[in-house]
Amino acid sequence: MPAHSVRFRDPAGAVRTGRWVDGEPGADGRIVAAGRPYDPDADGVTLLAPCEPTKIVCVGRNYADHAAERDASVPDRPTLFLKPPSAVASHGDAVPLLPDVQTDYEAELAVVIGEQSRNLSPEQATDAIAGYTCMVDLSNRDDQAREQNWVRGKAFDGAAPLGPVLAPPSSVPADAAIELRVDGDRRQAASRSDLVFSVPELLVEITRYCTLEPGDVVATGTPAGVGPLSPDETVAVTIEGVGTLCHTVTRPA
Ligand code: MN
Repeated sequence: MPAHSVRFRDPAGAVRTGRWVDGEPGADGRIVAAGRPYDPDADGVTLLAPCEPTKIVCVGRNYADHAAERDASVPDRPTLFLKPPSAVASHGDAVPLLPDVQTDYEAELAVVIGEQSRNLSPEQATDAIAGYTCMVDLSNRDDQAREQNWVRGKAFDGAAPLGPVLAPPSSVPADAAIELRVDGDRRQAASRSDLVFSVPELLVEITRYCTLEPGDVVATGTPAGVGPLSPDETVAVTIEGVGTLCHTVTRPA
């Protein structure tokens, strides 16, 4: 079975890629890299996002129940927007909230691209996938409502926590469960099979316009149950076959 891969900084400060073994990634287990074991909770071990995207292509309104809660319809083609590399955050990070705006959590299944891709066919789309990870699409609703391109609303520093591992495609079932908890309370629960546009359909459409590079991320949208975050709350996204991504949010700097 292919491994769940993890990027981390070791106690000496080196960035390493290893395998997550003996437990649920992000919750329990350990890391093995170059034949050495590492405790992911040890002092000096810092998990990093499992990929280094040149861009994150996000999909809006890709679950009917979330479109309804936003008083929107399901679009006839995927709604797309971008987050830049500077938005990436990692498992265990404390993301500072922006001052004086409402910031919502959104749990998303994130596709990580394995090879440079443009004009993919549906068959090629499946082969272009390196694997899956969890993402929180942190969303500043106040500015999202005021602007067309959602730069303030969606692209701010830390707006894309990713992780904890890159899971091989074979480990994530077609009906994988997707859950989000805030301080342990379940707020979102859905299945990958609820996606309006499937992962291959999204990759076909996106690569008609944008070349995707290895490590790029496609965030597939969020189900119903989104809501605002307060300082010091902990967000946990669990996706079946991937693991659990946790991060906190802090008061504005
Ligand atoms: Mn979203």
